[in-house]
Amino acid sequence: MHQGLRIFDTHTHLGRGLHSGRVQTVEQLLAEMDRFGVDHSLVIPFPVVEDHRAAHDEIAQAMRSHPGRFSGAACVNPFAPRRQFLDEVRRCVEELGFTAMKLQPQYQGVNPMWSTSAFVYETALAHKIPLIVHTGSGIPHALPSLQIPVAQRYPELRMVLAHCGGGGMFKGEAILAANLCPNIYLELSSLMPHDILEVLQHVPSTRLMAGSDLLESTRVELSKFFLMDMDDKARADILWNTASQLFGLK
Ligand SMILES: [Zn+2]
Repeated sequence: MHQGLRIFDTHTHLGRGLHSGRVQTVEQLLAEMDRFGVDHSLVIPFPVVEDHRAAHDEIAQAMRSHPGRFSGAACVNPFAPRRQFLDEVRRCVEELGFTAMKLQPQYQGVNPMWSTSAFVYETALAHKIPLIVHTGSGIPHALPSLQIPVAQRYPELRMVLAHCGGGGMFKGEAILAANLCPNIYLELSSLMPHDILEVLQHVPSTRLMAGSDLLESTRVELSKFFLMDMDDKARADILWNTASQLFGLK
């Protein structure tokens, strides 16, 4: 809790990222959560890891060791052998209790428009879990607008556009995507307050959520929702209600 409000951070990472060399431990993540008053975090593997199974096991261990503090998202290289991809997502959902999947087009060069990419979306749909799609850096595959036809093709699939287009650059596309597709949600990390107010003019707060992404951003990313002018309902939706419903937090 922070200032009386529950907080669900929908974008955090654990483990070692091969692309960035960054390492984040569960102790560091918990310390940052407690420092601000984050109740619950959705933990996602970094997009490029040495071993997807090990990355998922680390998240599952954090969930077991700290009950109620963490949920997990599966992130598997889409170019791994197909059987391996499908088996690992199934293991994450059925055995480890993960409640989301992540696609990272910046490092996983998946073009949402190609039919060869359909299995990624269909796998999340088959497990009835939301698919988080990184947007922003890594265009063109990471353009929010490219998720529109996919979201329309799979109206039952709930999708979260992480970073809402990235730093405000493609915020308009993200708003458009959410307006056209009731199954698209927006995660607001990397946006400035004026960007968020613009998003709020067009997208209901029941489809908006907070995220921090990296440890050193946690307090700044989450503080912005307390420092900005917005109504109490929108603030509570962004910080807790939307995500707890979407990811089925009891
Ligand atoms: Zn991230």
